[in-house]
Amino acid sequence: MYCSHLLALKELLNDEKIHELENYFSGLIGGATHNITVAKLSKAINISPQVASKVLTKCKAVGIVNAVFVIRCPECGMFIKKVNSISDIPLESFECYGCNAEIEIGPSDVEVIYSLSGDCVFIEGQQEEIDLLAKAVVPENSLESIFRADSINEYFFHPTEEEYCELNRMYVAIKEEKGTKKEKGDTLEDLTKYLFGLCSIFRTAGIKTSTNQIDCCVINKKYLDYGIFGTLGARFFIECKNEKHTPSGSYMSKLESIISTINAGGKAVCIKFGIIISKEEGPSTFKELAVKYYLSSGIVIISICGKELKEMFDNKGNLLDLIERKATEVMLDATTDLKKAGLYDS
Ligand SMILES: [Zn+2]
Repeated sequence: MYCSHLLALKELLNDEKIHELENYFSGLIGGATHNITVAKLSKAINISPQVASKVLTKCKAVGIVNAVFVIRCPECGMFIKKVNSISDIPLESFECYGCNAEIEIGPSDVEVIYSLSGDCVFIEGQQEEIDLLAKAVVPENSLESIFRADSINEYFFHPTEEEYCELNRMYVAIKEEKGTKKEKGDTLEDLTKYLFGLCSIFRTAGIKTSTNQIDCCVINKKYLDYGIFGTLGARFFIECKNEKHTPSGSYMSKLESIISTINAGGKAVCIKFGIIISKEEGPSTFKELAVKYYLSSGIVIISICGKELKEMFDNKGNLLDLIERKATEVMLDATTDLKKAGLYDS
């Protein structure tokens, strides 16, 4: 009966609590298997709501549970609708059909409900039930409080098996260097756009400014500022470098200069984040320059190489976790490998 996936929780819970969690999941029957919340789990196995948030997020990441998002009116608390993806939460304001107020939905108006996944040993598919009589979001179940528990990345980046396969296929195509030079460049750019497009909050496109061409401009369409999204800001630029040798250190200065110009030399902060994606690993000067630019202008520029992408695709890792670790390394000027130090999984 033991679900081996629960071992993934070892960094959050001790063996005894993992056993209690297993018993809790196993003991759920009928609609209860589709109505798991942070508040309920926290009470059931006596852990803090913050730890319960992290536990359920981890369970979601490894496929033990799925999440749905229940939207309630911030004014009257009435159930508005249930959506399967964060990207389906309405961005524009609309009129509540219960109280007629003009409302805009924020993370505190969204309750996250988890259900045991059909693939998991705990099973049995049943109708889910939403408490239509509830008059407000239970604060600890809200998207906001789950984001505050430092577990935002999983909700915005969770590719399917097929999407990871496609990423791997594209990566191999780039490695094999088929086609002309132009097509090669497009392939790394295509991979980049596809990869960032898998993050449900981003919109990606190549753009031209009057002086430069930007391989990939990413817009954070909801402009959430929790966790890594606060560091990334409302929009950021990605440059793709396709050569099969170590990319030149000057790429880092070039990207900094483009961003700095757009920011009117520091008088505005239009963009505060940049990424260089290169087929081969960047030179050590990338990191030194990145730290220098961060200290002088506050702009964070990270570099990600092909090997790191491949590793992420193979381990079904999280792009946002990777960006967060790289950004932290620049901002802390860390000389320790934060992954080896155990601070990050990917
Ligand atoms: Zn209302």
